Amino acid sequence: MSARDELRRYVRLLADWWTSPKTTDERVERLYASVRAEVLREAADELVAHCPDHGSVDTRFIACQCLAVDDLRRTASKGGAA
Ligand SMILES: [Zn+2]
Repeated sequence: MSARDELRRYVRLLADWWTSPKTTDERVERLYASVRAEVLREAADELVAHCPDHGSVDTRFIACQCLAVDDLRRTASKGGAA
């Protein structure tokens, strides 16, 4: 079971009876997109922080990964609210 499916399952269990399942599922999708965007931004920040050329903390990578950071941030901005 994916994290998205599991989230939907638990939210349905906790859902009130006056909210339609469709509305509940839409809320789950919005929440999932927000979490996904947040995780992508955190991963991007971590890649930059540990970059040997641009980082500010201990280096974890042999080479700069910052091109991938732009893709992660772009994907995050398409997928969810800040
Ligand atoms: Zn870099």
